Amino acid sequence: MTPSPPKKAAREILIDVQTCKGCNLCVEVCPRKVFAQGDRRSRSGYSMPAVAAPEKCSVCFLCEMTCPDLAITLIEENP
Ligand code: SF4
Ligand code: SF4
Repeated sequence: MTPSPPKKAAREILIDVQTCKGCNLCVEVCPRKVFAQGDRRSRSGYSMPAVAAPEKCSVCFLCEMTCPDLAITLIEENP
């Protein structure tokens, strides 16, 4: 039997406090509900989402591609 490839997982999901504008598109687009409303503020005073459930991330990169401010950096485990 062929071993299945290792499951993709995120090592880190970073949201840049300098550039996030709090649009919450990442919260809406993530199919795994990794993001949630947070209580941190960005440098410009916007309410930033929280990375609430990083263990659910399937490393689809939708959030990175969707963020209009390029504020998300996804670091993959075992890329
Ligand atoms: S999509 Fe980008 S700018 Fe919008 S809330 Fe998420 S990280 Fe911030
Ligand atoms: S890579 Fe995909 S699953 Fe992971 S946080 Fe971004 S949108 Fe959600």
